[in-house]
Amino acid sequence: MVGHLNGKEVRAPLLAWFRQNARDLPWRRTRDPYAILVSEILLQQTRAEQALGYYARFMAEFPNLGALARAAEEDVLRAWAGAGYYRRARSLHRLAQEVAGTGLPRTAAGLADLPGVGPYTAAAVASIAFGEPVAAVDGNVRRVVARLFAAEEPSPRWLRATAEGLLVPEDPGSWNQAMMELGATVCTPKDPRCVSCPVAGSCAGKSDAGRYPAPRARRQRAVSATALVLRTPQGYVLEKRDGQALGGLWGFPLAEGPDGLGALLSRYEVQDPRAVGTVKHAFTHKRLTVAVYEASGEGPGEDPQARPLSQLDRKILALAERGRWP
Ligand code: SF4
Repeated sequence: MVGHLNGKEVRAPLLAWFRQNARDLPWRRTRDPYAILVSEILLQQTRAEQALGYYARFMAEFPNLGALARAAEEDVLRAWAGAGYYRRARSLHRLAQEVAGTGLPRTAAGLADLPGVGPYTAAAVASIAFGEPVAAVDGNVRRVVARLFAAEEPSPRWLRATAEGLLVPEDPGSWNQAMMELGATVCTPKDPRCVSCPVAGSCAGKSDAGRYPAPRARRQRAVSATALVLRTPQGYVLEKRDGQALGGLWGFPLAEGPDGLGALLSRYEVQDPRAVGTVKHAFTHKRLTVAVYEASGEGPGEDPQARPLSQLDRKILALAERGRWP
Protein backbone atom coordinates (compact mmCIF):
# COMPACT_ATOMS: atom_id res chain seq x y z
CA MET A 1 0.00 0.00 0.00
CA VAL A 2 1.10 3.58 -0.69
CA GLY A 3 -1.14 5.88 1.32
CA HIS A 4 -4.72 5.04 0.33
CA LEU A 5 -3.52 3.36 -2.84
CA ASN A 6 -2.95 -0.26 -3.51
CA GLY A 7 0.18 0.04 -5.66
CA LYS A 8 -0.83 -2.98 -7.74
CA GLU A 9 -3.99 -1.23 -8.89
CA VAL A 10 -1.95 1.60 -10.32
CA ARG A 11 1.17 -0.12 -11.60
CA ALA A 12 -0.28 -2.72 -13.96
CA PRO A 13 -2.79 -0.46 -15.76
CA LEU A 14 -0.33 2.42 -16.09
CA LEU A 15 2.46 0.24 -17.49
CA ALA A 16 0.02 -1.45 -19.90
CA TRP A 17 -1.24 1.97 -21.03
CA PHE A 18 2.32 3.19 -21.52
CA ARG A 19 3.26 0.21 -23.66
CA GLN A 20 0.30 0.87 -25.92
CA ASN A 21 0.34 4.65 -26.01
CA ALA A 22 3.93 5.82 -25.56
CA ARG A 23 4.95 8.33 -28.17
CA ASP A 24 7.60 6.89 -30.45
CA LEU A 25 10.57 9.11 -29.57
CA PRO A 26 14.13 8.37 -30.74
CA TRP A 27 15.60 8.40 -27.23
CA ARG A 28 13.12 5.67 -26.27
CA ARG A 29 14.58 3.38 -28.91
CA THR A 30 18.03 3.27 -27.35
CA ARG A 31 19.67 2.13 -24.13
CA ASP A 32 22.77 4.25 -24.85
CA PRO A 33 23.26 6.23 -21.61
CA TYR A 34 24.85 9.15 -23.44
CA ALA A 35 21.94 9.48 -25.88
CA ILE A 36 19.44 9.26 -22.99
CA LEU A 37 21.39 11.89 -21.07
CA VAL A 38 21.41 14.27 -24.07
CA SER A 39 17.66 13.84 -24.47
CA GLU A 40 16.99 14.44 -20.76
CA ILE A 41 19.13 17.59 -20.72
CA LEU A 42 17.27 18.87 -23.80
CA LEU A 43 13.89 18.02 -22.28
CA GLN A 44 14.65 20.05 -19.15
CA GLN A 45 13.39 23.18 -20.86
CA THR A 46 12.07 22.02 -24.22
CA ARG A 47 8.90 20.08 -25.09
CA ALA A 48 9.44 16.65 -26.65
CA GLU A 49 8.04 17.64 -30.06
CA GLN A 50 10.39 20.60 -30.29
CA ALA A 51 13.36 18.67 -28.91
CA LEU A 52 13.24 16.09 -31.73
CA GLY A 53 15.07 18.23 -34.30
CA TYR A 54 17.68 19.52 -31.85
CA TYR A 55 18.33 16.01 -30.58
CA ALA A 56 18.84 14.63 -34.10
CA ARG A 57 21.23 17.45 -35.03
CA PHE A 58 23.23 17.21 -31.81
CA MET A 59 23.56 13.42 -31.95
CA ALA A 60 24.58 13.52 -35.62
CA GLU A 61 27.37 15.95 -34.80
CA PHE A 62 28.42 14.47 -31.43
CA PRO A 63 27.38 10.81 -31.43
CA ASN A 64 29.28 9.89 -28.26
CA LEU A 65 30.99 11.32 -25.18
CA GLY A 66 34.40 11.33 -26.87
CA ALA A 67 33.21 13.33 -29.87
CA LEU A 68 31.57 15.88 -27.60
CA ALA A 69 34.60 16.10 -25.30
CA ARG A 70 36.92 16.82 -28.25
CA ALA A 71 34.68 19.50 -29.78
CA ALA A 72 35.31 23.25 -29.50
CA GLU A 73 32.76 25.01 -27.29
CA GLU A 74 31.70 27.23 -30.17
CA ASP A 75 30.77 24.15 -32.24
CA VAL A 76 28.78 22.72 -29.33
CA LEU A 77 26.84 25.98 -28.96
CA ARG A 78 26.23 26.10 -32.70
CA ALA A 79 24.78 22.56 -32.66
CA TRP A 80 22.55 23.61 -29.75
CA ALA A 81 21.42 26.78 -31.55
CA GLY A 82 17.70 27.41 -31.26
CA ALA A 83 17.16 25.13 -28.26
CA GLY A 84 17.97 28.03 -25.91
CA TYR A 85 19.24 27.91 -22.33
CA TYR A 86 22.80 27.55 -23.55
CA ARG A 87 24.06 26.86 -20.05
CA ARG A 88 22.77 23.33 -20.61
CA ALA A 89 25.04 22.88 -23.63
CA ARG A 90 28.08 24.30 -21.83
CA SER A 91 27.51 21.98 -18.86
CA LEU A 92 27.03 18.97 -21.13
CA HIS A 93 30.32 19.82 -22.85
CA ARG A 94 32.14 20.06 -19.50
CA LEU A 95 30.52 16.82 -18.36
CA ALA A 96 31.78 15.02 -21.50
CA GLN A 97 35.29 16.30 -20.87
CA GLU A 98 35.12 15.02 -17.26
CA VAL A 99 33.94 11.48 -18.01
CA ALA A 100 35.01 10.78 -21.62
CA GLY A 101 37.77 8.49 -20.31
CA THR A 102 35.68 6.54 -17.82
CA GLY A 103 32.13 6.59 -19.18
CA LEU A 104 29.06 7.84 -17.35
CA PRO A 105 28.55 6.81 -13.71
CA ARG A 106 25.91 4.08 -13.45
CA THR A 107 24.06 5.41 -10.39
CA ALA A 108 21.86 8.43 -9.78
CA ALA A 109 24.17 9.54 -6.96
CA GLY A 110 27.20 9.43 -9.26
CA LEU A 111 25.39 11.16 -12.13
CA ALA A 112 24.11 13.92 -9.85
CA ASP A 113 27.72 14.98 -9.17
CA LEU A 114 28.25 15.90 -12.84
CA PRO A 115 27.86 19.43 -14.25
CA GLY A 116 24.28 20.37 -15.13
CA VAL A 117 22.75 17.11 -13.82
CA GLY A 118 20.11 17.62 -11.12
CA PRO A 119 18.36 14.92 -9.07
CA TYR A 120 15.60 14.43 -11.65
CA THR A 121 17.93 14.00 -14.64
CA ALA A 122 20.23 11.74 -12.62
CA ALA A 123 17.31 9.50 -11.61
CA ALA A 124 15.87 9.44 -15.14
CA VAL A 125 19.18 8.38 -16.73
CA ALA A 126 20.06 5.89 -13.96
CA SER A 127 16.65 4.19 -14.15
CA ILE A 128 16.22 4.20 -17.95
CA ALA A 129 19.79 3.39 -19.00
CA PHE A 130 21.05 1.34 -16.04
CA GLY A 131 17.86 -0.01 -14.45
CA GLU A 132 18.49 1.54 -11.04
CA PRO A 133 15.26 1.48 -8.98
CA VAL A 134 15.04 5.18 -8.26
CA ALA A 135 12.05 7.47 -8.87
CA ALA A 136 12.48 10.44 -11.20
CA VAL A 137 10.29 13.32 -10.00
CA ASP A 138 9.86 16.16 -12.48
CA GLY A 139 6.96 18.62 -12.75
CA ASN A 140 4.79 16.07 -14.56
CA VAL A 141 5.32 13.38 -11.94
CA ARG A 142 4.76 15.88 -9.13
CA ARG A 143 1.38 16.76 -10.63
CA VAL A 144 0.30 13.14 -11.19
CA VAL A 145 1.28 12.09 -7.64
CA ALA A 146 -0.37 15.14 -6.07
CA ARG A 147 -3.60 14.37 -7.92
CA LEU A 148 -3.56 10.64 -7.21
CA PHE A 149 -3.40 11.46 -3.49
CA ALA A 150 -5.36 14.74 -3.57
CA ALA A 151 -2.37 16.52 -2.03
CA GLU A 152 -2.69 20.27 -2.33
CA GLU A 153 0.76 21.21 -1.09
CA PRO A 154 2.98 18.15 -1.39
CA SER A 155 6.37 18.64 0.25
CA PRO A 156 9.43 17.54 -1.76
CA ARG A 157 10.19 14.90 0.90
CA TRP A 158 6.65 13.45 0.76
CA LEU A 159 6.67 13.51 -3.03
CA ARG A 160 9.97 11.66 -3.22
CA ALA A 161 8.88 9.04 -0.65
CA THR A 162 5.52 8.53 -2.36
CA ALA A 163 7.03 8.30 -5.85
CA GLU A 164 9.57 5.76 -4.52
CA GLY A 165 6.71 3.79 -2.97
CA LEU A 166 4.88 3.57 -6.30
CA LEU A 167 7.97 2.61 -8.31
CA VAL A 168 8.08 -0.73 -10.11
CA PRO A 169 11.52 -1.99 -9.03
CA GLU A 170 11.77 -4.63 -11.79
CA ASP A 171 11.33 -2.01 -14.52
CA PRO A 172 12.03 1.44 -13.06
CA GLY A 173 12.88 3.00 -16.43
CA SER A 174 9.53 2.13 -17.99
CA TRP A 175 7.71 3.12 -14.81
CA ASN A 176 9.33 6.55 -14.61
CA GLN A 177 8.64 7.17 -18.28
CA ALA A 178 5.05 6.02 -17.88
CA MET A 179 4.46 8.51 -15.04
CA MET A 180 6.05 11.31 -17.06
CA GLU A 181 4.09 10.38 -20.18
CA LEU A 182 0.81 10.34 -18.25
CA GLY A 183 1.57 13.81 -16.91
CA ALA A 184 2.62 15.13 -20.32
CA THR A 185 -0.29 13.76 -22.34
CA VAL A 186 -3.29 12.91 -20.08
CA CYS A 187 -2.90 14.40 -16.60
CA THR A 188 -2.02 17.79 -18.05
CA PRO A 189 -1.95 20.99 -15.97
CA LYS A 190 -5.18 22.28 -17.53
CA ASP A 191 -8.09 20.07 -18.56
CA PRO A 192 -6.74 16.64 -17.60
CA ARG A 193 -8.46 13.86 -19.56
CA CYS A 194 -9.62 11.84 -16.56
CA VAL A 195 -12.16 9.91 -18.65
CA SER A 196 -9.37 8.24 -20.58
CA CYS A 197 -6.89 7.95 -17.71
CA PRO A 198 -5.70 4.40 -16.96
CA VAL A 199 -5.48 5.09 -13.20
CA ALA A 200 -8.71 7.06 -12.76
CA GLY A 201 -10.16 4.27 -10.62
CA SER A 202 -7.48 4.87 -7.97
CA CYS A 203 -7.26 8.65 -8.20
CA ALA A 204 -8.40 10.63 -5.16
CA GLY A 205 -8.12 13.99 -6.91
CA LYS A 206 -9.95 13.37 -10.16
CA SER A 207 -13.21 15.10 -9.27
CA ASP A 208 -11.39 18.37 -8.72
CA ALA A 209 -8.04 17.81 -10.40
CA GLY A 210 -7.31 21.52 -10.94
CA ARG A 211 -6.87 21.96 -7.18
CA TYR A 212 -3.88 19.62 -7.04
CA PRO A 213 -1.19 20.63 -6.57
CA ALA A 214 -1.86 24.26 -5.60
CA PRO A 215 0.19 26.71 -7.66
CA ARG A 216 3.56 27.33 -6.06
CA ALA A 217 4.04 30.79 -4.62
CA ARG A 218 6.88 32.41 -6.50
CA ARG A 219 9.48 33.67 -4.13
CA GLN A 220 10.97 36.70 -5.79
CA ARG A 221 13.08 39.22 -3.93
CA ALA A 222 12.34 42.88 -4.65
CA VAL A 223 15.61 44.54 -5.60
CA SER A 224 16.23 48.16 -6.53
CA ALA A 225 18.95 49.17 -8.95
CA THR A 226 20.20 52.08 -11.00
CA ALA A 227 21.14 52.13 -14.69
CA LEU A 228 23.19 54.80 -16.40
CA VAL A 229 22.54 55.56 -20.06
CA LEU A 230 25.75 57.30 -20.98
CA ARG A 231 25.80 58.80 -24.46
CA THR A 232 29.07 59.48 -26.22
CA PRO A 233 29.68 60.89 -29.70
CA GLN A 234 29.92 57.28 -30.99
CA GLY A 235 26.88 55.77 -29.29
CA TYR A 236 26.34 54.42 -25.77
CA VAL A 237 28.61 53.04 -23.10
CA LEU A 238 27.73 49.34 -22.76
CA GLU A 239 29.16 46.64 -20.49
CA LYS A 240 29.41 42.91 -21.04
CA ARG A 241 27.32 41.17 -18.39
CA ASP A 242 28.33 38.11 -16.45
CA GLY A 243 26.40 35.82 -14.10
CA GLN A 244 23.99 32.99 -14.82
CA ALA A 245 20.98 34.94 -16.06
CA LEU A 246 22.58 37.48 -18.39
CA GLY A 247 26.12 36.15 -18.90
CA GLY A 248 27.45 36.88 -22.39
CA LEU A 249 24.85 39.58 -23.12
CA TRP A 250 25.50 43.34 -23.14
CA GLY A 251 23.80 46.16 -21.27
CA PHE A 252 23.96 49.60 -19.75
CA PRO A 253 26.07 50.14 -16.63
CA LEU A 254 23.92 48.87 -13.78
CA ALA A 255 24.38 48.83 -10.01
CA GLU A 256 22.09 47.22 -7.44
CA GLY A 257 21.46 48.69 -4.00
CA PRO A 258 20.61 52.06 -2.51
CA ASP A 259 23.83 53.81 -3.56
CA GLY A 260 23.87 52.49 -7.11
CA LEU A 261 23.78 55.95 -8.64
CA GLY A 262 26.78 57.17 -6.63
CA ALA A 263 28.78 54.08 -7.60
CA LEU A 264 28.02 54.51 -11.31
CA LEU A 265 28.75 58.24 -11.34
CA SER A 266 32.15 57.77 -9.76
CA ARG A 267 32.97 54.75 -11.96
CA TYR A 268 32.30 56.79 -15.12
CA GLU A 269 33.29 60.21 -13.71
CA VAL A 270 29.91 61.67 -14.61
CA GLN A 271 28.26 64.73 -13.11
CA ASP A 272 24.72 66.08 -13.45
CA PRO A 273 22.84 62.97 -14.58
CA ARG A 274 19.19 63.41 -15.56
CA ALA A 275 16.50 61.05 -14.23
CA VAL A 276 14.48 59.61 -17.11
CA GLY A 277 12.15 57.18 -15.33
CA THR A 278 11.86 53.65 -13.97
CA VAL A 279 11.90 50.22 -15.55
CA LYS A 280 10.62 47.03 -13.93
CA HIS A 281 11.79 43.57 -14.88
CA ALA A 282 11.20 40.15 -13.30
CA PHE A 283 13.78 37.38 -13.26
CA THR A 284 13.13 33.91 -11.85
CA HIS A 285 14.23 34.89 -8.34
CA LYS A 286 13.99 38.66 -8.20
CA ARG A 287 11.89 41.60 -9.28
CA LEU A 288 14.14 44.45 -10.30
CA THR A 289 13.05 48.09 -10.20
CA VAL A 290 15.61 50.14 -12.07
CA ALA A 291 15.90 53.92 -11.79
CA VAL A 292 17.27 55.06 -15.14
CA TYR A 293 19.53 58.10 -15.47
CA GLU A 294 21.15 59.54 -18.55
CA ALA A 295 24.15 61.71 -19.12
CA SER A 296 26.55 62.72 -21.88
CA GLY A 297 30.16 61.69 -21.87
CA GLU A 298 33.29 61.47 -23.93
CA GLY A 299 35.17 58.49 -25.24
CA PRO A 300 34.16 55.39 -27.18
CA GLY A 301 30.60 54.15 -27.45
CA GLU A 302 28.69 51.19 -28.88
CA ASP A 303 25.77 50.80 -31.25
CA PRO A 304 23.24 48.84 -29.11
CA GLN A 305 21.75 47.26 -32.23
CA ALA A 306 25.10 45.62 -32.94
CA ARG A 307 25.29 43.91 -29.53
CA PRO A 308 23.13 41.18 -27.99
CA LEU A 309 21.14 43.17 -25.41
CA SER A 310 19.14 41.57 -22.60
CA GLN A 311 15.41 42.21 -22.45
CA LEU A 312 15.95 44.42 -19.41
CA ASP A 313 18.41 46.56 -21.36
CA ARG A 314 16.04 46.82 -24.30
CA LYS A 315 13.48 48.30 -21.91
CA ILE A 316 16.06 50.75 -20.57
CA LEU A 317 17.06 51.74 -24.10
CA ALA A 318 13.41 52.26 -25.13
CA LEU A 319 12.81 54.47 -22.10
CA ALA A 320 15.96 56.53 -22.74
CA GLU A 321 15.11 56.96 -26.42
CA ARG A 322 11.55 58.04 -25.57
CA GLY A 323 12.97 60.56 -23.12
CA ARG A 324 15.21 61.94 -25.82
CA TRP A 325 12.62 62.22 -28.59
CA PRO A 326 9.30 62.80 -26.85
S1 SF4 B 1 -7.74 10.59 -13.07
FE1 SF4 B 1 -7.39 12.64 -13.84
S2 SF4 B 1 -6.41 13.71 -12.16
FE2 SF4 B 1 -6.25 11.51 -11.70
S3 SF4 B 1 -4.25 10.91 -12.52
FE3 SF4 B 1 -5.77 10.54 -14.12
S4 SF4 B 1 -5.83 12.39 -15.39
FE4 SF4 B 1 -4.77 12.88 -13.46
